[in-house]
Amino acid sequence: MNLQGKTALVTGSTSGIGLGIALKLAEAGANLMLNGFGDVEAAVAAVASHGGRVRHHPADMREPEEIEALIRASEAEFGAIDILVNNAGIQHVAPVESFPVERWDAIIAINLSSAFHTSRLALPGMRARNWGRIINIASVHGLAASPGKSAYVAAKHGLIGLTKSLALETATTGITCNAICPGWVLTPLVQQQIDDRAAAAGGLDQARHDLLAEKQPSLQFVTPEQLGELALFLCSGAAEQVRGTAWNMDGGWLAQ
Ligand code: NAD
Repeated sequence: MNLQGKTALVTGSTSGIGLGIALKLAEAGANLMLNGFGDVEAAVAAVASHGGRVRHHPADMREPEEIEALIRASEAEFGAIDILVNNAGIQHVAPVESFPVERWDAIIAINLSSAFHTSRLALPGMRARNWGRIINIASVHGLAASPGKSAYVAAKHGLIGLTKSLALETATTGITCNAICPGWVLTPLVQQQIDDRAAAAGGLDQARHDLLAEKQPSLQFVTPEQLGELALFLCSGAAEQVRGTAWNMDGGWLAQ
């Protein structure tokens, strides 16, 4: 897989799945625009050590103007955005009747609306070059629900709907749009849920086991590296007719 000369923008790529995907794309030769909060320097250094040129932009995915600045900075720095990975996401767990309204708004903005904004702004350049890959990191929760995750489930179902619409609007072009739907991946987003369970009962090991046993028949976490390999495949020529899919990698979660 050779992505030399291509530029990838991965939102929320300072941690977890986004960083795992950025590392794989850099290994294949792509230039990377990273985005997200936290330990930015470590993320930039890790991706730089895998090859290609790397920059970071601090846009907050809740803010359309900042998203526009991220797209313009990527184009100014690298000349194009060829691969767009909409990955930034947050979680909050609570029943609907006590779900904090500001958390609902933030989840819809970051997990769903930001992909609309990045896509609408990156598409004209992709159309001009007649090549592009848009990869939306949805979730098994884009295809099935769990209690307590109304905003997340609604956003991820919406993201799969957006994926299908975009795939149809670009169907006769060299641009493809697909969603990846991971099951449990051991990242800070999931560690928080394990910590909450451990605090309620049992220890960390028990909480980790129970979390997997409830949903993921393999009893193993999916890894960011494995998701990075799937993203690489979606960037390949072999995946040119893979359009509008919601591809789960979930240890058997959705087979049940
Ligand atoms: P993570 O917490 O490790 O990473 C989230 C990333 O998003 C970080 O880089 C963070 O800085 C960034 N981010 C958060 N809010 C942001 C904002 N307002 N603006 C810009 N960046 C922001 O989480 P993760 O588990 O790697 O999740 C990445 C994606 O994968 C999310 O969309 C999540 O819903 C999805 N996902 C995760 C799992 C899992 O089990 N971890 C499963 C299915 C889907």
